[in-house]
Amino acid sequence: MHGNPLNNASWPERIGGQLILSAALWVGLLLGGCTPIKNPPAGELRRPLLHLFRHESCQAPALARTLGRLNSASLYVLHIAPFGREELGWATYAPEIEHEIGTRCAADTPGFADALAHWQHRRGLAPSGVMTVATFAVMKDDWQARRPFVQLRATGACPAPPRANDLADAKPTEGYEGKAVQLRKGALAAYRRMVAAARQGEPALAAKPELLTLFSAYRSPAYDAARCAHDHNCQGVVRAACSAHRTGLAFDIVLDTAPGYPVDSSADANRLAMVNGLAYRWLVANAGAYGFVNYPFEPWHWEWTGEKP
Ligand SMILES: [Zn+2]
Repeated sequence: MHGNPLNNASWPERIGGQLILSAALWVGLLLGGCTPIKNPPAGELRRPLLHLFRHESCQAPALARTLGRLNSASLYVLHIAPFGREELGWATYAPEIEHEIGTRCAADTPGFADALAHWQHRRGLAPSGVMTVATFAVMKDDWQARRPFVQLRATGACPAPPRANDLADAKPTEGYEGKAVQLRKGALAAYRRMVAAARQGEPALAAKPELLTLFSAYRSPAYDAARCAHDHNCQGVVRAACSAHRTGLAFDIVLDTAPGYPVDSSADANRLAMVNGLAYRWLVANAGAYGFVNYPFEPWHWEWTGEKP
């Protein structure tokens, strides 16, 4: 975690022209053979970058390209562990980050750097336009703050499971490979509205009916405890102690996977394939309108916020 200038929270504040130049040279060497990032459209650079680099505003487009290259260089190498497990790079979170900062520009572009600088400015961070561990930490906290289950757990409480008559059975076609799954009634109704809209809006999703089916939903505490004991896999006792699935508001949804990986594989290669698939990208853009929030470490795990856990 140490020794990488991108990791340092105060790094942007200490950028001198020399560091920018050496970073640009370093990145230029690194990316020498790659396709150049295209110029941002005129007017794309707005206040934060211009403010930060006000003495060099005539160079702003070149700086934005450099920042795009810095993000491009860190996308697969920045050491992060936002959810406990060490990860290399933040590409798995790029769709969620693009949505969060309000851009359609990919993470390695000048436009993304500009939108990130605006977001950093709004959140009281130095508007460097470059993803750092510190910036990622603030963004992760924002994501987690939108999950009522996580907020409740932070108080030390664990929600009681719903009463049996608060749960509803999904149809066999809604469970992955016909699996019987249950959700709270409101969550199931919201899930159905969302999936109908996804399939109507995206024929490619409708063409693969297994996409967006549910491979797990409500799990009773007893079921989770038994599974934990049987598999010797308690996900660091989270599953056994208090899983979000006991609320009847959480589900695991089938996304595009990497070849050969099961729908619930948390292997980094699989998670990366998932977030680059159409199903996940549609959810990131639209699930919020139906009351759903994601646990970004598990692209497949979504929680309905329409009722208290
Ligand atoms: Zn889950």
